[in-house]
Parts: sequence; structure tokens; C-alpha cells
Amino acid sequence: MYDISTLKGTDRRTFFKLAAAGGAAALAMGAGQAQAQRQRTNARIVILGAGAGGAAIANRLTERLDGARITILDPRAEHWYQPGFTLVATGLKPAGYTVSGTGDWLPRGIDYVAEAAAEIDPEANRITTTGGRRIDYDFLIVATGLVLDWDAIEGFSLDMAGPENGISAHYAGPEHSVKGWQALDRFLDQGGVGMFGRPATEMKCAGAPVKLCLLAEDMATTRGTRGKTQFIYNAQAPNLFGVPVIHHRVRQIMDERDITYRYRHVLKAIDVGAKTATYETPDGDVTDRWDFINVIPPQRAPQAVRDSGLSWAERWVDQGWIEVDMHTLRHARYANVFGIGDINGVPKGKTAASVKWHIPVVEDHLVAQIAGREGTTSYNGYTSCPLITRVGRAMLVEFDYEDNLLPSFPGIIAPLEELWISWLMKEVALKATYNAMLRGRA
Ligand SMILES: Cc1cc2nc3c(=O)[nH]c(=O)nc-3n(C[C@H](O)[C@H](O)[C@H](O)COP(=O)(O)OP(=O)(O)OC[C@H]3O[C@@H](n4cnc5c(N)ncnc54)[C@H](O)[C@@H]3O)c2cc1C
Repeated sequence: MYDISTLKGTDRRTFFKLAAAGGAAALAMGAGQAQAQRQRTNARIVILGAGAGGAAIANRLTERLDGARITILDPRAEHWYQPGFTLVATGLKPAGYTVSGTGDWLPRGIDYVAEAAAEIDPEANRITTTGGRRIDYDFLIVATGLVLDWDAIEGFSLDMAGPENGISAHYAGPEHSVKGWQALDRFLDQGGVGMFGRPATEMKCAGAPVKLCLLAEDMATTRGTRGKTQFIYNAQAPNLFGVPVIHHRVRQIMDERDITYRYRHVLKAIDVGAKTATYETPDGDVTDRWDFINVIPPQRAPQAVRDSGLSWAERWVDQGWIEVDMHTLRHARYANVFGIGDINGVPKGKTAASVKWHIPVVEDHLVAQIAGREGTTSYNGYTSCPLITRVGRAMLVEFDYEDNLLPSFPGIIAPLEELWISWLMKEVALKATYNAMLRGRA
């Protein structure tokens, strides 16, 4: 729909300059890696999950290690490019844009087991698969992502999502993103009350519910139906985004566009027949009518991880994220276990962009350990979210553990401005970078 050939003048020159800079960086990185000496080893390495983090680290370790026996487990035959779900759920991309084959991204020479880990025993250094196969390891990398706890929303089940009921559940996958668009499309025509919001647990891409709300409002305006639609955004916290400066900017945009926002409203139950949603608030439950609702449920570690003893005991107890050091991503109690991606119990970083910065850290510390050295690389909490504010406009927000903004293109892309170039980063460049990361080249 949005083609870079439609770019004009400065926008076009800037975009290609940035793309060239990114490409050059990726190439330079690839060349450097090719020259790095391969570490000889016969270590057995098991990777749980072949999503963004699992596929990428499998490719990196295959490059860096000579003789390692690498096994990767993942029961899902499809690889999902999840940052594309927001674009599918707003009718800007087809479902196919987000789907490829899991096996397509994996390097030759590793063992790909199309099963889930059913049991993880970090004391015995052993995984048992859902098919009953036992796999022993010397090093374990947990990259299982997270699970969506739909059952936690009373009265709701995924089969209720779709245009018939006015429900979008786009986090559930490509098909649900399509149904979510059908529901949104109908709402944008017919009007009424649109409900948006996020769960109270940690979540992947905390900007995604904000993006969906802002995009929907923009589309209603373009269609000429804004006058008969109301938009309500329900935040779980006393802010709209965890990073204060971003919270203030999002609030300003919502004020300007007459989007209602409510703090400390956590979706608890849905009555699909009555078209009502009940929210937990500090002042008791509140029940509201809706015509369209975007449901994003609480998010937790997969059960096998929660049962493994790898989770934090005193933090995120209801969520089960694994207890890794926030800078080395090495497990706090099992030195041969690392975490990559959404599963990590660290204060920030549940985005694919964060995975890109998890990979070199885990690679460095694991390869160093095999070589009998100390790793030196540190993860600073880098998290990024191209916050789409309108069709054709986004803010490229990037930040670290300390809530510092970390713009990748200082002086060129202002993080808190709604820019066409930032939109292109999300709409065009992000997938190419993601794919390069999967291949171990970014
Ligand atoms: C709607 C939406 C929008 C998003 N937008 C953005 C964005 O704009 N920018 C951004 O950077 N990020 C975005 N993200 C977040 C990003 O997709 C995730 O942070 C990223 O995919 C995390 O990578 P991962 O490897 O940890 O998990 P995943 O990529 O989810 O992969 C986990 C894999 O583990 C497998 N698995 C699960 N359990 C087991 C088990 N027991 N054994 C073996 N395998 C298992 C799964 O099948 C899956 O393939 C978005 C996510 C969503 C849902």
C-alpha cells in the first residue's frame, strides 16, 4: 500500500541514506564475524524455541563454533513475524506478510526437533520433549517466548474473536490479526465505542495496543466516521507508557485527538452477549459497554519453564520469567543456562529489537565460557518500538533500563516526533532487519 517509490525529495534521500547505513553496518558486522576465529568444541547446546531469538542464536553459534552439537526445539512449523501483526490487524498488510517456515531460518548441520520441551531439568542438564525424547546438554539457551493467558479473562475464549462480536485478539497470530481487522473495519464504518488497553503483566511490545488505538482513530478520521466513534484507552498503570517522557508524549497526542484514557483499568471479564467489559480499578470494578474491543491478555512464561526451577522465586511470581542477570543474560543459579528474548526476567526488553541486542551478549558469554575466558559484552536494556501514530507517521522510540532515550539516528530521526521516515522504518526496514537478525547477520 505504501510504496517507497512514492517518497519525494528529502524523505527519499534520507531513507536511502539510512537504509544504506544500516546495510553497511550489517555487512561490516558480517565480514568481521566471518574473520573471527571459530572456536573448536564438542559441546552439546540445546536451544528451546526457534522464534526470533532461537533462530538467530542458532545461526550465530553455527558461525562461531566448530564441532558443537546444536539441537533446537520448536513445535510450531510456522515462523511468525509478530511485529507485522499490528499492520495486518489494521488492514495494511495481508496475513502472509507475517508467516514463513520455522525450518527456513535454521542453519544446516543442527538438529531441529519439531516438539516442545515438556520438562526442563537444569540439575540433570536434561530436556524431555513432548514426544518423550530425552536430550542432554552442556549449555541451554531458553528462547521460548511467552504464552498468552486468554483464560485469565473471565467469560472470554478465543473463538469469540472476530467481526461477528466486534472483538480483535490480534496477539493470537496471523489469522486472528485478519479477523481483528475485519472487526475493526466494521466498527470504523458503523461507529460506537472502541475499547483498547493492555494487561497488568509484563507484555511483549507494550506499544502495540497504543499503536492499534491511534491507527484506528486515524482511520476513522480519514473515513469520515470519527464523529460517531469514541476511543477509550485503558492503561494498567498510572501512566500510558512505562518511560516517563514517552508517556507524556502519548498523553499529549491522545489529548489532541480526543481519545479518552483511563489509568489503572485492567480488563478482568467480558460479556460477549451484553457487549460489556469489566475492569479492575483501585476503586472497585467498573463495567462498560463497547462496540469494538481489542483484547490483550496477561502474558506468562510457558508452563514447562515455570515448572523448571529457572524462574525468579521472589519477582514476577505469577508470570514466571527466568532469573537471568540483567546485563549478561546468564542464569543466576545455573551458569550453563542463558535466556534470550521475551522469557527473560529483566526490567525491560520484550521486543524483537531487544532480541537483536540479546544475541551478541549470549553469544559472547557462551563462546567465552567454552574457550575458558570471561565474556565482556553487556546488555543495557535496549528496547525499541516504532510507535505508529497515524497511517504514514510514527515515532521511533528507543530506550534503555534507565529510561534514557537511545536514538539510533541522532540528529536525523527525532524519537518523539511523528515522522514519515519513522513510519518507513516500521513499514519497510524493520522486517528486513528482523530477517537479517534471524540469519545471524544483524
Ligand atoms: C502484536 C505484536 C506486535 C509487536 N510489535 C513489535 C515491534 O513493533 N517491534 C518489536 O521489536 N517487537 C514487536 N513485537 C514483539 C516481538 O515479536 C517479540 O518480542 C519477539 O518475537 C520475541 O522473540 P522470542 O524469540 O523471545 O519469542 P518468539 O519470537 O515468540 O519465539 C518463541 C518460540 O518458542 C517456541 N516455544 C514456545 N514454547 C516452547 C517450548 N516449551 N519448547 C520449545 N519451543 C517453544 C514458540 O513456538 C516460538 O516459535 C510484537 C509482538 C506482537 C505480538
